[in-house]
Amino acid sequence: MKKVQTHKMTVSIDEHSSHLEQFKLFFKQLDDQGKTIEKLPRETIEDYQLKAINATLAHLWDNNEYYRSRLEEKGFTEPKINNLAQLASVPILNKDVIRGDKEKILCVDPKEIGQVHLTSGTSGKPTYTAYTLADQYVYDLLPKYLELFKESADDVAAIALPYEFALPGLGFQRLYQFAFGTAVLSLGKGGYMAPIDKSLELMKEYQATVLATTPSYAALLIEESEKCGIKIGEDIRMKKIWLTGEGCSSTFRDRLEKWWGCEVSFFYGSTECGVIGVECSKHNGYHIMEGHVKVEIIDPESGEVLPYRKTGELVVTTLLREGMPMLRYRTGDLGVLQKSKCDCGLTMDVLQLRGRMEHMLRIGETDYSPFMLEHFLMELPEVGLWYHFKMNQGELTIEAEKFKTEMSDDQLAEKVKQHMADRIGIDCEVVIRDDIPRTFGKAQRVFT
Ligand SMILES: [Zn+2]
Repeated sequence: MKKVQTHKMTVSIDEHSSHLEQFKLFFKQLDDQGKTIEKLPRETIEDYQLKAINATLAHLWDNNEYYRSRLEEKGFTEPKINNLAQLASVPILNKDVIRGDKEKILCVDPKEIGQVHLTSGTSGKPTYTAYTLADQYVYDLLPKYLELFKESADDVAAIALPYEFALPGLGFQRLYQFAFGTAVLSLGKGGYMAPIDKSLELMKEYQATVLATTPSYAALLIEESEKCGIKIGEDIRMKKIWLTGEGCSSTFRDRLEKWWGCEVSFFYGSTECGVIGVECSKHNGYHIMEGHVKVEIIDPESGEVLPYRKTGELVVTTLLREGMPMLRYRTGDLGVLQKSKCDCGLTMDVLQLRGRMEHMLRIGETDYSPFMLEHFLMELPEVGLWYHFKMNQGELTIEAEKFKTEMSDDQLAEKVKQHMADRIGIDCEVVIRDDIPRTFGKAQRVFT
C-alpha cells in the first residue's frame, strides 16, 4: 500500500473542541489506509458531506441567531437534513446580507476569532470573514489532496498573491508550509516592501520551483523579467504555476505555459469560501474540493437547484468551519457541474467556470463569457496578453496590444475583427494600443 505523505506540521489548539472534532477521525482513517478523499467512491464522499453539513447546521442553530431564524422561517424544527438533495430546502445566503456586517453569521464568541479577512466589493462595504485559529490550522488542513498537489519539502514556493485583507496570500502560505513543508517566499503583489524586480531576484536567489499568482501577474512577471535581465527558464526554473484570483481562458494559460516552460493550472477559491475547485493535470475543468465544500448550481432567477450539465450560479456550503461557516452562499460566479469521468481517476465532481455574472457581455441577444472571447482573441499570436473588452450600448470594442509582430496597427485591427467574426460571428470594433495599463491589483479587462 502506498504510504501517504503526512502533513509536515501540525498544530494543537489547547483545550479546543468544536462540532468538527468528529471529522478528525474520518480523515485520520483515510491517512491510515493510504487514501485521500480525492478517489473515494461517491457514496463515501456524499455520506461525509451529509454528516459535515448536519454538524454545521447544528453548530449554527445553536450559535447564530440569523441562521437559526432563517431556518425556522423555512419550517425547520431541528437543524438536520436527511439527504443531500434536501440541502435545497435550506435558505440561500446572499452577499448583501453579510456585506458591512461583522457578526451577522459569526458562530463563535468574538474573542475566539483568530483572523479576519475581507473583500472590498464594488459597493464599498466590505464582506468580512472571521476564522478561528482551529479553522485555519487544524480543520482547514484535514482533507488532503495529494493527487492534485505534488509539491513537497524539496520545493520552494513563491506566493505572489495579496497578503493584505484578502485570503489568498496567507491561504497558500499555510497550505505550503503546513501540508507540504515547502519553503515559502511571500512576495505579495508589488507592495511597497516587495517591488516586482526584487521579487524576481528573490525567486532567482532561492531557486523558486512553484509560483502561485494571478494570470495577469504571471504575465507581468515575464515582461518585467526581460527588463531586469532575469532569464525565465534559466535563472528561474519553474516546475508548476497555480493561477487564481482572476479567471482566464485556456489559450491565455497555454501562452503562460510556453513562456514559463512549465505546467500552469487553475485554482478557484474565494475569501469567503476558501478553496472551491482545483484543476488536475488533465486540464479539463476544476475538481470540486469536496472535503472542504459542497457546491450546488442554481438558476440565478428562481433559486432552484439545477441538475448536472446545466449552467447556473454557484452556491457554496463550507464543511469545515466553526468561526463563520458559509451556508448556501451565492458566489455570483457562473458555472456548470459534471460527474467526474476524468482520466485522472479522481471522483470529485468537475466544474467548468463561466465567469462572474456581472461580467457577462450581452452582444445582440446573446450573453458571452469574457473567457470565451479572450480564448478567441488569444488564438492570434500577434495579440499580446493585455487587452480590454469595452461595451457601449450593446456594441463591443476590443482594445489590444501588438505582440512581436511586424504588422501595422490597421492590419492587425482588421485581422482581429475578421477573426472574431469568423470564430463567433460577432461584429466588433478593434483598436490597437501600446499603452494598456499594467496593474499590481486585479486586472480589469471588461468594461460594461
Ligand atoms: Zn481530473
